[in-house]
Amino acid sequence: MQYADVILDISAPSLDRTFQYRIPPEWEKEAVIGAPVLVPFGRGNTERKGYIVGLCENPKLEEGRLKSILGVCKRGLAIEDSLVELAYWMKEHYGGTWNDALRTVIPVKGSVGRREEREVVAKKDAADLFAAGESAEKKHHGAKARLLYQLSEQPVIPYEVVAGKMHCAPATVRSLEKAGYLEVRKKKKEQRAGEGHRLLLSPEQEAAAEKVIGALGSAKTFLLFGVTGSGKTEVYLRVISEVLARGGQSIVLIPEIALTYQTVMRFYRCFGDRVAFLHSRMSKGERYEISERAKRGEISVMIGPRSALFTPFPNLSLIVVDEEHESSYKSESAPRYHARRTAVKRAEMAGATVLLGSATPSLESYQRALLGEYGLLTLTKRANKATLPKASIVDMRQEFAEKNRSVFSRCLREKMQDRLDKGEQIMLFLNRRGYSGFLSCRSCGEALYCPHCDVTLTAHKSGRLQCHYCGYQTDVPKRCPSCGSPYLAGFGTGTQKIEELVKTEFPMARVLRMDADTTRTKDGYERILDAFADHRADVLVGTQMIVKGHDFGGVTLVGVLAADLSLLASDFRAAERTFQLLAQAAGRAGRDAKQGEVVIQTYQPEHYAILAAAKQDYPLFYQEEMEFRNAMHYPPAGHMLLVLGMAASEAQLIAEMEKLQKDAGEYAEKKGQAYTWLGPVPARMRKANDIYRAVIYVKHKDYDALVDVKNRMEQQYLSGEIGRNCRIQFDFDPINMY
Ligand code: ADP
Ligand code: ZN
Ligand code: ZN
Repeated sequence: MQYADVILDISAPSLDRTFQYRIPPEWEKEAVIGAPVLVPFGRGNTERKGYIVGLCENPKLEEGRLKSILGVCKRGLAIEDSLVELAYWMKEHYGGTWNDALRTVIPVKGSVGRREEREVVAKKDAADLFAAGESAEKKHHGAKARLLYQLSEQPVIPYEVVAGKMHCAPATVRSLEKAGYLEVRKKKKEQRAGEGHRLLLSPEQEAAAEKVIGALGSAKTFLLFGVTGSGKTEVYLRVISEVLARGGQSIVLIPEIALTYQTVMRFYRCFGDRVAFLHSRMSKGERYEISERAKRGEISVMIGPRSALFTPFPNLSLIVVDEEHESSYKSESAPRYHARRTAVKRAEMAGATVLLGSATPSLESYQRALLGEYGLLTLTKRANKATLPKASIVDMRQEFAEKNRSVFSRCLREKMQDRLDKGEQIMLFLNRRGYSGFLSCRSCGEALYCPHCDVTLTAHKSGRLQCHYCGYQTDVPKRCPSCGSPYLAGFGTGTQKIEELVKTEFPMARVLRMDADTTRTKDGYERILDAFADHRADVLVGTQMIVKGHDFGGVTLVGVLAADLSLLASDFRAAERTFQLLAQAAGRAGRDAKQGEVVIQTYQPEHYAILAAAKQDYPLFYQEEMEFRNAMHYPPAGHMLLVLGMAASEAQLIAEMEKLQKDAGEYAEKKGQAYTWLGPVPARMRKANDIYRAVIYVKHKDYDALVDVKNRMEQQYLSGEIGRNCRIQFDFDPINMY
């Protein structure tokens, strides 16, 4: 006799556990892991749907108390079965429970009130609309101008796009309606196809698109490596058009922050009503409705962040992952999956093609491309005849030595004055990413490193410095170990300070600031970008938020302040992050015909990440960085499993983590595998909400070897053997260190 562990319909969170059922002989063949089943549940034995998530020979209860499965839904929706299979893979590959995994891939039921859908329709021809847009722009009526321009290119736009992403107030729409430019009406029921794809592709773009189109129907993965502004999006559009023509469906993953109304309109113009957008502010009901429409084949292109990957398209042919290097593709809750890797898995299961795109690819993807696992497609030139910006690196140690104590180097200040005189725009990017209390020398720029791990030490309130990989501790030295200067300091300057400094040094400049403070309100982020795009400011000061994929034609100068700050983060990905941020920031300059310029201020002008970013030379960066990763066996040269433990008592937590490490270590040793173990040590964020946190790092060349020890630890933990009163979580190849 066989028994099945069944997870009941996951829309009821109270049933967050498995129930065991007997498998009657007639269903034995169909009852496999992942199969949807019907079971009797509760006193009344109501019929419920569930999924088989485990099989065994021995019942957990007395045989007599078990109920039998009523049936296996053989012809259940194939798409759901395959998503359950994907959930199983995610659970195995990343750790976590069945429920975590199922909830991630299957939308929770919800309902939305029936809303009447409306659309905005142009009532004049394109030339009139465009002219009206120009005169609205002159009067600084940004929202009006945006809407008029868009209508001149696309005569029908969904009202939700106009009111949402485009930020046009109802009053704005009404006044244009009164003036006879447009009409708001109930959405027509029939599907509109959009215009299809129109731009003539460059030979490079054409070649890239043809390669992908040639592979459609097979589970092949491509990396489209194209410099900023090289027209990667146009390549996606071309391939998606082809998929549509063949009756297939496409998923486009895009970091939420890059999903501006320009992007939305670009896809809408091409694909009309067949495209739908997901975003994080949607309610459960809205999400559920979209996924039902996808199942029924009413939409064919789904665009959105990470979670859009699980759109239940029955005939999925293409998954695009734009800006594939973005860390937002990694989930921060269990299962801590990486959407890029999971996309490749889903495509493998569906026979779909994957297209990853970036100007600064992740080391992981580029390595696979060099190994021939992924097809490598390159775009070397900017579209639109724009040229790549000229970059200069300024050594801030020199400025300090020559008594310039300002955060602006003389070079940057001069160029800023020049652009302001010419009425051109400037972006100032303060690189604060990864900032975490490390110390650096104001005179030579050196930071204090752990002698064992090659990452920066973190300063604690106690005045000690500590390494979060191995636990090494030391006192804060009185003088810089490299040059002897007594000026050791944390880097404290924030965006607000920079904004004030710009205002004092350039009283005529209109300044906008974008950071966590100014974007806290709903849409705060897009409002600032709109204002800057409408040229209602000369200077935009911001954190990494400002460097992500925005097209500002008026920007001819980008200043990067404290370029090396992110290099000092106590994290093996610090150089990669720095390179990506700098190269993307530089890519913001000169998107139009005017030549752009970049000034990179740094204390480490000789660091390869900075030199390579200034030259926009990714292969150079890759080569240098891989030497470091290889030497230290950091991903992608090897793999890393992080085990995070949380408990109210730190002493107990460390003791339990030690047991866990010892048990898994012995288990691994029997297998004769070469693992590297670090920890347990207190996490960087040692205590959160009065819960202590500690970490173990395990390194191994093979991912599957790490899955093996994860399974051992998970089993010990779930059976209550080790780690009682603790919570244990796993993170493979972590993006953020804990
Ligand atoms: P990326 O996605 O690589 O940053 P985009 O696809 O956004 O680049 O293209 C950058 C700019 O160049 C856009 O304004 C786009 O309209 C324009 N562009 C792209 N391809 C072409 C082309 N083949 N002909 C003319 N303009 C193009
Ligand atoms: Zn020094
Ligand atoms: Zn260390």
